[in-house]
Amino acid sequence: MTGPKPKSSSHPGLSPETLTAQALGNVDERTKALVPPIHPSTTFERDADGEYRSGRGYSRPHNPSYDEPESLLATLEGGSDCLLFASGMAAASAVFQSLLPGDHVVAPRVMYWALRKWLIESAMSWGLDVEFLDTSDLDQLRAAMRPGKTRLVWLETPANPTWDVTDIAAASVIAHEAGVRVAVDSTVAPPVITRPIEHGADLVMHSATKYLNGHSDVVAGALVCREQDAFWNRVTAWRRDAGGVLGTFEAWLLLRGMRTLFVRVQRCSESALAIARHFGGHPKLHAVLYPGLPDHPGHDIARRQMKGGFGGMLSMRHRGGQAGAMETAARVNVFKRATSLGGVESLIEHRASIEGPSTPVPADLLRFSIGLEHPDDLIADLEQALDHTVADAHQDDHKTSSPPLNQGGDSLTHTVENLLAERVRPVAAERGGDLWVKAVTDGVVQLEISGSPGATFPLRAHITALIQHYVDADLEIAFLALDRDSGAESGSVAERITALLNDQINPAVSAHGGQIRLARIEQDVVYLTLEGGCQGCAMADVTLRQGVEVLIKEHVPEIVSVVDETDHTQGRQPYFKTKKGM
Ligand code: PLP
Repeated sequence: MTGPKPKSSSHPGLSPETLTAQALGNVDERTKALVPPIHPSTTFERDADGEYRSGRGYSRPHNPSYDEPESLLATLEGGSDCLLFASGMAAASAVFQSLLPGDHVVAPRVMYWALRKWLIESAMSWGLDVEFLDTSDLDQLRAAMRPGKTRLVWLETPANPTWDVTDIAAASVIAHEAGVRVAVDSTVAPPVITRPIEHGADLVMHSATKYLNGHSDVVAGALVCREQDAFWNRVTAWRRDAGGVLGTFEAWLLLRGMRTLFVRVQRCSESALAIARHFGGHPKLHAVLYPGLPDHPGHDIARRQMKGGFGGMLSMRHRGGQAGAMETAARVNVFKRATSLGGVESLIEHRASIEGPSTPVPADLLRFSIGLEHPDDLIADLEQALDHTVADAHQDDHKTSSPPLNQGGDSLTHTVENLLAERVRPVAAERGGDLWVKAVTDGVVQLEISGSPGATFPLRAHITALIQHYVDADLEIAFLALDRDSGAESGSVAERITALLNDQINPAVSAHGGQIRLARIEQDVVYLTLEGGCQGCAMADVTLRQGVEVLIKEHVPEIVSVVDETDHTQGRQPYFKTKKGM
């Protein structure tokens, strides 16, 4: 059964404004209603012969209320298909979850905070290799491409909340040369302003909660694709099977909101530009960040990439540091102190305090979402709020909300220990390992690990990212037990693997009554078996595949893969519980 598509439609001669205002001009066939009916039914009748000729059987995969908003968004973005999701996060995570464990992904260092957090806490721990870098630096981006391994470049432009601009066209050329797909979180630049597919992107993501709906009354997400390729089929299957679907009424409301998209976004952009210009050079501020200002580092690219306005989002940095910024937010009367963006009402927010201690957002920064009020009212409101604030701040206040590297060693050790205790040690313990902070010196956190290498080795990137995310982005993390000299650095491939097994792996596995043996080597593939012990307890499967394989490949570069030949069904206790306590 296929759904009632196609989504993208061409309407020769009609402008996007007209298509949007009329929601593609559809009229309900039965009643001639200009506004589409709501279809709350979750299920649809089969034909007498058991077929579903209507194309719909159940609303999780085939909700009729998605048809119009999906078609409209696919058309506006110039894509070939669109999928609505229960939220922007559901849409974004569907893309990452359609990749395969081990795939390398590049994402911006400055990006929507909750998505970055999800990448670190969830995506990395189930196997995605996520690398954060400054995606607006094309040399960095080029250097990060690992052909055959990198599967996705994720961009956000302009990026929250400094509004860094990435050149989508240039980034897409770099990614495509390496055979990598490009996805753009275009929430802040809806298709009124930027159409990433025209610039070369393969996928566009929106938190439809923001400008697309525009009235702060729906949480929704959307993805649009350039081509309905195999990857898109996986994303579609993910939505259908994982089930992060939007409610019927929300889809209907979203279409209603989208009809006014152009006038709203144009008005927000005009007002944001007027406000940014007005406050540029204000004595209480040391920066106004808006891509529409000529002094913004991304202005030249923004002028090419953003048409008909630079969007409604801007930030300001207060000379009075965090205190000055907070005081300003406390004194506004017209702006609403609230998170989110893209609604009809203007919002003010102190981002650093929302994002926590390791945020890259300066503590003196206020983020503004400009709505549809008269810009003079917004300017007057902000002027009077700034008037009451003090312009000089403690120097550190301009940087970030917390300077962990300046913490004493003990305090930093304590912070990292707490983080490990809360988020890492329980997972490592379940898998038969442990780790703790040995020392913190000169910005390097030394972690000592014990137990099964399969317990902590696969988590290395995740642990590094967690500490850098929650404690300090500049900290270096060293894993002592894994980095020590194993005696596996010289000799034949077989000798080096045997030394590695004896020195680093078997001491941990033998504590659980097992031994890993080298069975044979064929070209660049090594075959291992686990002998004795409890199969599950020795983490045979996990250890061999995830722990030992990574370790061997790191120390013996001639080896490209490791095969576990153990007949696990013959184990004395093959399904022994993996939770063993430490
Ligand atoms: N992307 C950006 C740029 C956002 O600002 C947000 C939400 O603030 C999201 C994604 C996530 O969207 P949602 O809150 O709809 O899940």
